Amino acid sequence: MENFRNTYLTTNMKNIIGSLDQRERTVYIWGAGFSGLVLCHYLKKAGWKVTIYEKENRAGGKIQTLKTPFGPSETGANAIFLNYDGLELLKDLKLEIISAAPKLKRKLFLDNKISSPFKLSLLLRVLPRLLSKPPRITEGLSVADFFKPLLGQRIVHDYLSTVLGGVYATGAENLHFKSIFPEVQNTIQFKSYWDFFKTLIRHKKAQPQPEIKGSASFEGGMSVLVDRLYELHKDDIRLSSHEEFYPKKNTFICTDAQTASVMVANYAPAIASELKLVTYQHLSSVTVFLKRQIRDLHQCFGVLIPRGNKFLSSGILNNKAIFPINNPNVYAYTFISHEKLTPEEILKEIQHLQDDMTQDDIEFIQNNYWDRAIPLYNVNRSLAINRLHELTQTNKIGLFGNYVAGISLREMISAAKNFAQNNKFQGV
Ligand SMILES: Cc1cc2nc3c(=O)[nH]c(=O)nc-3n(C[C@H](O)[C@H](O)[C@H](O)COP(=O)(O)OP(=O)(O)OC[C@H]3O[C@@H](n4cnc5c(N)ncnc54)[C@H](O)[C@@H]3O)c2cc1C
Repeated sequence: MENFRNTYLTTNMKNIIGSLDQRERTVYIWGAGFSGLVLCHYLKKAGWKVTIYEKENRAGGKIQTLKTPFGPSETGANAIFLNYDGLELLKDLKLEIISAAPKLKRKLFLDNKISSPFKLSLLLRVLPRLLSKPPRITEGLSVADFFKPLLGQRIVHDYLSTVLGGVYATGAENLHFKSIFPEVQNTIQFKSYWDFFKTLIRHKKAQPQPEIKGSASFEGGMSVLVDRLYELHKDDIRLSSHEEFYPKKNTFICTDAQTASVMVANYAPAIASELKLVTYQHLSSVTVFLKRQIRDLHQCFGVLIPRGNKFLSSGILNNKAIFPINNPNVYAYTFISHEKLTPEEILKEIQHLQDDMTQDDIEFIQNNYWDRAIPLYNVNRSLAINRLHELTQTNKIGLFGNYVAGISLREMISAAKNFAQNNKFQGV
């Protein structure tokens, strides 16, 4: 097991791009979003001095809990899905977490109604094919290509793309297999799908497990996390910075890839053109406060919605059910959509769920829209990231952010922790 873990750690693609020069003790980070804050936190623990430049007048980037007259509204991450490193960090920050309410049902919108994702027909389709041989794992292989022989086109569309879309904001056709399953990257051909699933399970077991699992947030919402990191490191963070970007030794850019591309264009054009290849999905995250609850979402975590039906949303979260303490008096739902939703469209979305809902049932709508919400984990991103690892070897510039080593907060925590542990400051 230990060997397996070491092999995984030395070959995994989930690394921060760049290196540190021991001749200069200070690390300069551009961007105080979650990636910049967490990188700063671990580098300081590893003995480095850090200065962060942030252009806005607050730290946290996409993570912010807006306080509306009717309750909280998350602009970005609604929760952190705990892994070992994530929980360790939260303990280190002395943050008290609130776990998502247990036993909430997760639903899919299938055949024009909200239903359970577990169907006998699904099992009957998959079981006989588990011992069949999957496609070879090539550089261009998509997640859909890999799973289609096992699941068939319809199940890939209705189930797999919908579930992955809830994390990656795009379907299985656009997702690069090796990026989504980095733990199997050294295998070119699995004997069977069963063999593949066994590898995933073996990898999971080799990871240290957190004593608390599942989604977690904080009383007061996700701002609590970034506010705590800011509070700890505020002497090293320059908010509302108008400092012109200039790469000194040990410079890490922790913005989105497109912004990073513009920043480095004059200094490292080759890096700039690779960064341009990382593209983004725009998203709306709309919190709707209702006077009464949506009947079919009672005791539900939420519902994921396959593309190509009457909804403009790809998922709806039932905030009150998930974190009741943060939503004691309100029925609050978050609609995630690829569209920029108008108030009329939001009402229609609610009516698709329950047709007797009217404008009068809506207390308040908080509409948050991100032009570059989620980086697309497609083959172009993967090729660009590989080339960026090579290019930065001869350059002072390092890169981190949710397009580098995983979209989710827990992946960013693990990447920053590993990087700092492998690059401790050795000087005096
Ligand atoms: C709607 C939505 C829901 C999500 N839900 C979840 C979830 O439930 N769980 C989860 O784990 N993840 C979730 N995520 C993902 C997660 O929120 C993001 O991956 C993460 O917050 C991104 O952090 P970042 O530091 O990479 O980027 P950002 O948050 O974009 O931070 C970049 C920072 O750089 C700054 N900056 C930009 N240009 C400059 C410049 N020139 N100079 C200085 N500073 C600059 C910006 O102001 C910003 O502060 C969600 C994302 C979205 C959009």
